[in-house]
Amino acid sequence: MRVAFLGPPGAGKGTQARELAREWGVPHVATGDLLREALAAATPLGLEAKRYMDQGALVPDEVIIGATAERLREADAARGFILDGFPRTVAQAEALARLLAEQGQKLDAVIFFEVFEPELLRRLTGRRVCRGCGATFHVTFAPPRSAGVCDRCGGELYQREDDSEATVLNRLQVFARQTAPLLDHYRRQRLLTTVRGEGSIESVRGEVREATGALQ
Ligand code: ADP
Ligand code: AMP
Repeated sequence: MRVAFLGPPGAGKGTQARELAREWGVPHVATGDLLREALAAATPLGLEAKRYMDQGALVPDEVIIGATAERLREADAARGFILDGFPRTVAQAEALARLLAEQGQKLDAVIFFEVFEPELLRRLTGRRVCRGCGATFHVTFAPPRSAGVCDRCGGELYQREDDSEATVLNRLQVFARQTAPLLDHYRRQRLLTTVRGEGSIESVRGEVREATGALQ
């Protein structure tokens, strides 16, 4: 089960990937989480990534490709993975294909979460993330039982700096310009399945399960 979740910021990739990775027994490899963890630990990768992330720009391909390749070479990814937020450019997709080919593997499916801008803005501006475990909530659509506190681990919930409205608009443009070309790229390879990402969290999960059913 080697699957990539593709979609604009706020489409629900992380929400679905976290649950499904547990269900399928594969790691959830979210490059945004990887970079935020690197930043929290003040590693050279984190510090380099910060100036791009703050603006809502993409981190340079060579930086993110190196970091993701290192993560995918870890033992837990040998049986499969859900990639969330990678690849985001055609160059990243090509690097991923090469990396997997070196290991005699390939991507099994790419799931595109289709959600339109008004809903993305509502989701991103209301998103809250746990500082402890990275779980994601929404002030209205997926509120925690107790405001500001993570249901899973009791950690503090915070609003990502790049979820401010100005940065969100830039991130949506970056998606349209740099990431949307991947739709055709994967359609040509017959790997792409589109799910209607605007439904409830449960209904979207059902669609992803259906789209990946043959792989499990
Ligand atoms: P992504 O990983 O694609 O950027 P997230 O999974 O973090 O997106 O979801 C963005 C926000 O939208 C979060 O606050 C999350 O709780 C909320 N959300 C996710 N899926 C849905 C859904 N199907 N309906 C309503 N809100 C959702
Ligand atoms: P995300 O958590 O997926 O919304 O990612 C947050 C930010 O991390 C993005 O706005 C980028 O700056 C950076 N990032 C994450 N994944 C990638 C990637 N595959 N390529 C380039 N930058 C990335």
